[in-house]
Amino acid sequence: MTIEQRRSIVTAIPGPKSVALQERRTAAVAAGVSSALPVFAERAHGAIVVDVDGNQFIDLGSGIGVMTIGHTDEAVVAAASAQLAEITHAMFTITPYESYVRVAELLAEHTPGSWAKKSVLLNSGAEAVENAVKIARHYTGRAGVAVLDHAYHGRTNLTMAMTFKAMPYKTGFGPLAPAVYHVPGSYPFRDGLSGTDAAARTITYLEKSIGAKDLACVVAEPIQGEGGFVVPAEGYLAALQEWCTANGVVFIADEIQSGMARTGRYFASEHFGVEPDLVLSAKGIAGGLPIAAVTGRAEIMDAPHAGGLGGTFAGNPVAAAAAIAVFGEIERRDLLAEAGRIEGILKPALLELQKSYPIIGDVRGIGAMLAIELVQPGTKDPHPAAVPALTAFAAQHGVLLLSAGTYGNVIRFLPSLAISDELLREAIGVLQEGFASL
Ligand SMILES: *Cc1c(COP(=O)(O)O)cnc(C)c1O
Repeated sequence: MTIEQRRSIVTAIPGPKSVALQERRTAAVAAGVSSALPVFAERAHGAIVVDVDGNQFIDLGSGIGVMTIGHTDEAVVAAASAQLAEITHAMFTITPYESYVRVAELLAEHTPGSWAKKSVLLNSGAEAVENAVKIARHYTGRAGVAVLDHAYHGRTNLTMAMTFKAMPYKTGFGPLAPAVYHVPGSYPFRDGLSGTDAAARTITYLEKSIGAKDLACVVAEPIQGEGGFVVPAEGYLAALQEWCTANGVVFIADEIQSGMARTGRYFASEHFGVEPDLVLSAKGIAGGLPIAAVTGRAEIMDAPHAGGLGGTFAGNPVAAAAAIAVFGEIERRDLLAEAGRIEGILKPALLELQKSYPIIGDVRGIGAMLAIELVQPGTKDPHPAAVPALTAFAAQHGVLLLSAGTYGNVIRFLPSLAISDELLREAIGVLQEGFASL
């Protein structure tokens, strides 16, 4: 089913049907599950989401970077539908099937590094992070896990311990998993450090406060997601990886948000010249179906004993078929280049907005993973209050915008690579009106 790629607001936002659903939701759904907007989605295609009241929104969030190749992509729908009717579940640990193997082959081909690679497939990003840590611990015989300030790695017990922000992710949910160490990373807008200096600071923490001999892995997002689309200074990641290699520490790139073509390369690590030992993928990999992966050096991946990795639904055939279709569409439609097209329109527009609105302290990101950080004009003090004002304005005018950031003062742009120039420009126009209305 296709939907006209057009913005159209026909009711108040939220509309009457959304308001009625919100009442049912409040009565039936746990309060701990929040939603950015009280607008209920009904259908979507390409870069447009249609709500239950018939309003059409330009989607600049893509379900947090999941619908990278576009909503209800024809190839994904066809592949998943066909697979659904063939075999819906087999459980790879009982009777294996080809699609799981094919996804592993495609990941081996497209992740950085030319060495022999293997994968394990899972259901969610957090599960990929958990399994990467299990594998690194088994391989090294060490327990310690180092993560960077402002990191986001998930909501399970281990991954919430690895996530930086206490509220809402950790507060009240302890005790947290042990042997997780938070070390400073590289946040050029805030720390002003070169990549070399930021890496030296990180390494001092790793060596002095943890000690390499007790460290199984360092886990880093090449471009931080929830933390505010923080792009590390040049040379930072390469220096960090070099230290890991020299010290027998597994270097793990959490590419769950930054991977799968979002930045114009299959994996953002490539922009920084790093070839991680293990690479994690999830969000954009299967056009919205739940599947995740740990991919990396065969000798590390093979460390755990048979039966040590897996899960009932992990690597589900329908999700695997969708993932194969996503890889196919990235190639067939040259979607890596589309990320550059989007950056070419959006980034200059954001820099132009910054000239008129000094509340925009920083414009950053790569490809179709861009953000603005809002500050009190003339300072670097976070301005979180402006974010809900802008996202609410955008929603009222038919544009879905997402927030991010440790300080809640970042607006992130994760449009589908299928978005047209025209829709993107229209959304930028709404954003500009939003700034004018502040
Ligand atoms: C979303 C995300 C996760 C967690 O993925 P889930 O599928 O929500 O468990 C982990 N790491 C990063 C970088 C993410 O963006």
